[in-house]
Amino acid sequence: MSNLQYFRPTTVDDASALLGTPNSRTRAIAGGSSLVFDASINADILVDLSQLGLDQIERHDGQLHVGAMTNMQTLVETGYALPENDPLRLLCLAAHDMAAVGLRQRITIGGAIATADSASPIVTALLALNAEVLLFTPNGKDKRKTVALAGLLGYQAQVLKAGVLILGVIVPAISEASVMRYAKVARTPADYPIVCAASVCEMGKELIQTLRVAVGGVAEMPVALNQLGIELAKKPLSHLDTALASALAELNPPSNWLGSGDYRRDMAGVLVKRNLS
Ligand SMILES: Cc1cc2nc3c(=O)[nH]c(=O)nc-3n(C[C@H](O)[C@H](O)[C@H](O)COP(=O)(O)OP(=O)(O)OC[C@H]3O[C@@H](n4cnc5c(N)ncnc54)[C@H](O)[C@@H]3O)c2cc1C
Repeated sequence: MSNLQYFRPTTVDDASALLGTPNSRTRAIAGGSSLVFDASINADILVDLSQLGLDQIERHDGQLHVGAMTNMQTLVETGYALPENDPLRLLCLAAHDMAAVGLRQRITIGGAIATADSASPIVTALLALNAEVLLFTPNGKDKRKTVALAGLLGYQAQVLKAGVLILGVIVPAISEASVMRYAKVARTPADYPIVCAASVCEMGKELIQTLRVAVGGVAEMPVALNQLGIELAKKPLSHLDTALASALAELNPPSNWLGSGDYRRDMAGVLVKRNLS
């Protein structure tokens, strides 16, 4: 901890430049909640992102923009009273499952993406919403660029270095006819999920128009079941069981003290069906 320097810049350019300081071990601090587990910190320079104005939630042309510094409790409070066809409502349900209220006030959406674990509810919901991540890349041709969240997952450590910052997430416009659901299994109702699932489904009169399903707790990172959506498009819901069985057969969930791989696969099926019923 000796010679640890702390900065609180007010512009993204300054924050990025500090994080890219040559020959230094730098670390961005968002909610700071992961520091609790990191007694060594392993950094010479801490860069606090709290003054960058990245805590806005805005809507533009049907898209939802959520700044990287938006915390989980803000998502809970903003989305709580919204209808089931609003992406903020889905983010509210998932954010609620991230932690108890005290920690929800610290955990930011940027930090949750940077440190996503297997069963992250908020990352699972963002995958179902087909979200993109807005990055600040100081050495890129365009300093601001968007990448698909699904493409970033698993590569955060490689991407988020040398001054690269998550600025926020963008949820694309989604039909108002869509119903968005989230469900989980956990040791207790208030606990972090063992398995969770989120879905965005637009039903026509009798046929599914579009469907996106994501599941957490069945792989190293939450996964989108893209093939399931492709197979069920323009089909009646009665085809769900068969399509879901083949999608789940592709998974190879890990086993640990919280549940075996078979249990996780079975629960993923139960939750997806519950969301679509
Ligand atoms: C009691 C407790 C329980 C926890 N349980 C879990 C759990 O079950 N699962 C889990 O995954 N985590 C858990 N955590 C760890 C922590 O809460 C999460 O990792 C959280 O998502 C971090 O969010 P944060 O905003 O606090 O990020 P920070 O702790 O501030 O940062 C985390 C990392 O992300 C990077 N980062 C943050 N924001 C950005 C950004 N905008 N751009 C680029 N990089 C960024 C930081 O540099 C840092 O390396 C727990 C923590 C506590 C205290």
